[in-house]
Amino acid sequence: MNDNQLLRYSRHILLDQIGIEGQQKILAAHALVIGAGGLGSPAALYLAGAGIGKLTIVDDDEVDLTNLQRQILHTTERVGQNKVDSAKISLHAINPEIEIVALKERLQGERLQALVHSATVVLDCSDNFKTRHAVNSACVTAGVPLVSGAAISFDGQLSVFDTRTKDAPCYACLFSPDQEFEEAQCSTMGVFAPLVGIIGTMQAAEALKLVMGLGQSAAGRLLLLDALAMEWNTIGISKNSDCPVCGSLHSKLQH
Ligand SMILES: [Zn+2]
Repeated sequence: MNDNQLLRYSRHILLDQIGIEGQQKILAAHALVIGAGGLGSPAALYLAGAGIGKLTIVDDDEVDLTNLQRQILHTTERVGQNKVDSAKISLHAINPEIEIVALKERLQGERLQALVHSATVVLDCSDNFKTRHAVNSACVTAGVPLVSGAAISFDGQLSVFDTRTKDAPCYACLFSPDQEFEEAQCSTMGVFAPLVGIIGTMQAAEALKLVMGLGQSAAGRLLLLDALAMEWNTIGISKNSDCPVCGSLHSKLQH
């Protein structure tokens, strides 16, 4: 690290649990953020500020006036622009030293798999089950930890799916891919603005901890926030041995 970096990251380096070693792990990491909306905004901003070495942000949408109530990466003057381009401007303004890759697309198939494989950690900041399951499946196959967040109305959720650990559940252990879920989206249901900030920020915290191997992750736990009561509930989640995504694959990988 040069003198400027030592200054920029000094408040991390001061922490005994992080120090220069932990900060160097952050600088060497690649975070893949799926979605540049309500969750992706705070998640990516904190990762950029913290000096994540490479940040790939993926979204196929454009900035809309209705986004600005909560999607803090974007600005009024950038309405109509690609979200990922708008994101890149905000992220580079905070930290011009990191590499930012902005992809305007809906990742799937081999491209998704290759990108997940290249990442140190993946943050699912998307808003639909199809994407969530595709990202989870790619993470299980690649053995890359997934930090999953969701927010709708006044309800938020957070968990980590880290199948590098034996017996750790994946997203599909919790929500079966075969099951029909009613898709609840902000465009129809509404969402409390700071709620996405709380959950997205927690996703950044979990991602940084995973990158550094610090503390205990939320793997095996689903954290549920009721923002109206401002109460958290934690549910333990366990691996489903019949899970179509991690069940058989995991046993195949056992040595
Ligand atoms: Zn599973």
